[in-house]
This record gives sequence, C-alpha cells and structure tokens, in this order.
Amino acid sequence: MIVTEKAPAKINLSLDTPMRYLDGSPQWNMVMNSIDLADYLTIDIHTRPQTIKIYTDSGFLPNDQRNLAYQAAHILKTRFHRPEGVTVRIKKNIPVAAGLGGGSSDAAAVLRGLNCGWNLGLSLNELAELSLTIDSDVPYCIYSHTAHVTGHGEQIRLLLQCPHYWAIIAKPSVSVSTPTILRQINYEKIVHLDNEGLLEAIEQENWQHAFAKMGNVLEPVTMKEYPKIKKLKDGMLKLGADMAHMSGTGPTVFGLCHSESRAKRIYNSMRGFCGEVYLVMLL
Ligand code: ATP
Repeated sequence: MIVTEKAPAKINLSLDTPMRYLDGSPQWNMVMNSIDLADYLTIDIHTRPQTIKIYTDSGFLPNDQRNLAYQAAHILKTRFHRPEGVTVRIKKNIPVAAGLGGGSSDAAAVLRGLNCGWNLGLSLNELAELSLTIDSDVPYCIYSHTAHVTGHGEQIRLLLQCPHYWAIIAKPSVSVSTPTILRQINYEKIVHLDNEGLLEAIEQENWQHAFAKMGNVLEPVTMKEYPKIKKLKDGMLKLGADMAHMSGTGPTVFGLCHSESRAKRIYNSMRGFCGEVYLVMLL
C-alpha cells in the first residue's frame, strides 16, 4: 500500500521562552503557523524486506535512524508490533536546518501516513503525544494549523486560523545549530513579549494588533553571531512588509504582507541580496 503526505514548513509567528527546565531544555510560549512550502512524502508499506528505509533527493540528509522520518516510522512500527517494511521517499523542498521545521514536518507526515495506512485509528492528539520524543516541533506539525504552543512543545491549543497573508521567506546561506543557540540564551536578559495581549488580540480577530505584539526573543542571540539576519529583517520592513521576524532559532527570516503586489515587490527585491527566497501563502 502507498500513502502520500504533504509536509508543510512551519514559521514561528511569535516565539518566547519563559524559563529553562531542569534538564536544560527551554519552556516555550509560541504562536506557530504553517506555510505553503512543503516536502512531499511517499510512504510504501510492504512485506519485504521488513525494515525501514528512507530515501531523500537531498545529498545532505542522513538516511538512517538520524533521519526524523525514520524515527517516526520506528515509533509506530515498534509500538504497534507491525511486521511490515516501510519505505519513505522524501521530495525535499524545505531548506534544511533553516528554522522552518522541515525534519519535524517530515516526521509528522510519516506518523499521519502510517496511522492511515495501518488503520491504527489514533487521533491527532494521540499522534502528537507519541511524537514529542522525536523533536519539540513535531507535535505542532501533526496539526499544521495556527496554534499556541507551550511546554516542551507538547501543549498545543489550536487558534483561529491566521488570515490569508503572503509570506516572503528568506534563508541566508549560514548554518545555525539549534542546540548551540539554545545553550546561549541568557534568561536574565530576555525582554519577554506580551503573550497574553497577543492571544487576546488573536481571539478578537484583531490581527494587526496581534502582529504588532509578535516577536522572537531569540533574535538577539542568533543575530549577534550572524548580523546578516538582522539586515534581512530590516530590509523586509523597509520594503513595506506588515511584519518581519526570524523563524525559530534562525537563520530564516519571514515577512508577512496582506497585499499581493507589495509581497511580490518585496520578494523580487529580496532576491537581490539573499540566495534563497520564496514567496508563499500562510496556510
Ligand atoms: P528545528 O528548528 O526543529 O531544530 P530546523 O527547521 O532548523 O529544525 P531541520 O530542517 O528540521 O531544521 O533540520 C534539523 C536537523 O535535522 C538537520 O541537522 C538535519 O540533518 C536533521 N534531519 C533529520 N531528518 C531530517 C529530515 N527528514 N529533513 C530535514 N532535516 C532532517
């Protein structure tokens, strides 16, 4: 049996971290959304050989248990004692290690696909619970819907869907290590966001107000090391984006625009000074 799944990238419309847990991992307070930039997965469930195989069209990704898609298949195969083999082919469109959650979304897509292919009947909540051990962004990616995400990434409250905005996505050619950035957070220096006001504005469907309250408290940490990221953000705002922030731990910067013509103008201008730029819709 073959199942196909779309795995959309995520952006952190807003990202704050109130504290560090005892194990050193951050507690999150984020508003997340998915964008129409996606990987495509073909999941083949078969009888021989009974192993998990991952193939990607990217030369940079591991095909073994380090691949998050492999880990997702392994979790369901062992938990439900499935004897079949699973072969996953991933068409990568989401830039890797970009702060866009590509690996997490691939893992979430494998969980959804095998849940369907094996008729496991798990709810999205149950899949999200199973997925947290893979990466903190996987539970969100199970839903891929505007959401308030807290805790380690496992507490997910779906919000009103974000209106149809254009997103200009600019990925500078630097490699940012998520664990390194997370280790560098100085919790005493963080200027926290008005997260309550932000959620209230979303509930009232006052998106302009909500956008004004969004931010990413990790920007100073990543931008200090990679000043180019700040230049991209400033450039997007100067060109007229309604808002612009770094996604996750970076390095990708996104700008949102309600007007299609302005979004296209910003996209064309950004291509002048960033190698990898995409123009997509918020999902
Ligand atoms: P996060 O912010 O969740 O750490 P990211 O969006 O910055 O993730 P990813 O593209 O998910 O970055 O890649 C992060 C790491 O995960 C990379 O080092 C990559 O080698 C590894 N990885 C494992 N499986 C995948 C996959 N299927 N797609 C992309 N990266 C993967």
